[in-house]
Amino acid sequence: MTAISVSNLSKRYGKTTALDQVSLELQRGEMVALIGASGSGKSTLIRHIAGLEMGDGTAGKVTVLGNISQDGGRPNRSNKRGAVSVIFQQFNLVTRLSVLTNVLIGNLGRVPRWRGTIGVFNKAEKEKAQAALARVGIPQVAAQRSSTLSGGQQQRAAIARTLVQQAEILIADEPISALDPSSARRVMDVLADINNQDNITVLVSLHQVEYARRYCKRTIAMRDGRIVYDGPSTALSNAF
Ligand code: ADP
Ligand code: ADP
Repeated sequence: MTAISVSNLSKRYGKTTALDQVSLELQRGEMVALIGASGSGKSTLIRHIAGLEMGDGTAGKVTVLGNISQDGGRPNRSNKRGAVSVIFQQFNLVTRLSVLTNVLIGNLGRVPRWRGTIGVFNKAEKEKAQAALARVGIPQVAAQRSSTLSGGQQQRAAIARTLVQQAEILIADEPISALDPSSARRVMDVLADINNQDNITVLVSLHQVEYARRYCKRTIAMRDGRIVYDGPSTALSNAF
């Protein structure tokens, strides 16, 4: 079953062509790497798939889990809420809140049982969030302020939130670019784990080809707003 379908997607920012006739399809359960130099269009593509672009200068079509999210530049808000979780290179957590609260409040404004005050989550919800933190290997930090976490721990907390949200697709925009190699490996291990165990479809943009080869069967490579490779990561040349 198709998780993400992008068809002839183009995006212009004034005179800059950020995306030029991009087409791709991800099946449910895949874990796919998106690579390319800075400025090649990875973030723009991700924002369109995540429904975070308003549609000006956009042409083409994006369908996520069978719902059209972009069609000829018109954004469509019919996507099932919470089905797509997005993680960025940084700023994924509200730093003044505890890690547990961050996991509970979900992604992209999806707030379960919010009653104007933080901390009104019920016991079952808190247990679920605590279990998600255990899944990503950081059960001990639940009560800490998010600002006290290392970069790698923050990314793992953001992935725990994806689990609580029961997202079907996780899109991660350079989640390991700011991390040292051992933290980066731990974050990639967690992504691979939720892909395997929870069947969450993962699209992850990466700077380093070696992580794509190690963690993803399939890699999509971009250059100047175009897809220049889409196939097995093992066959990827070192040129990327
Ligand atoms: P990266 O290469 O890691 O994607 P960038 O520095 O290219 O990061 O972009 C960071 C943010 O700035 C993105 O949200 C992107 O859309 C925005 N951005 C990039 N280039 C421009 C630009 N020329 N004008 C305005 N915003 C831009
Ligand atoms: P990447 O994520 O691969 O670094 P981006 O998608 O951020 O690439 O950028 C692709 C191109 O689009 C770049 O030339 C960038 O400067 C431009 N761009 C991205 N976002 C914006 C924006 N909000 N405004 C203007 N130009 C942008």
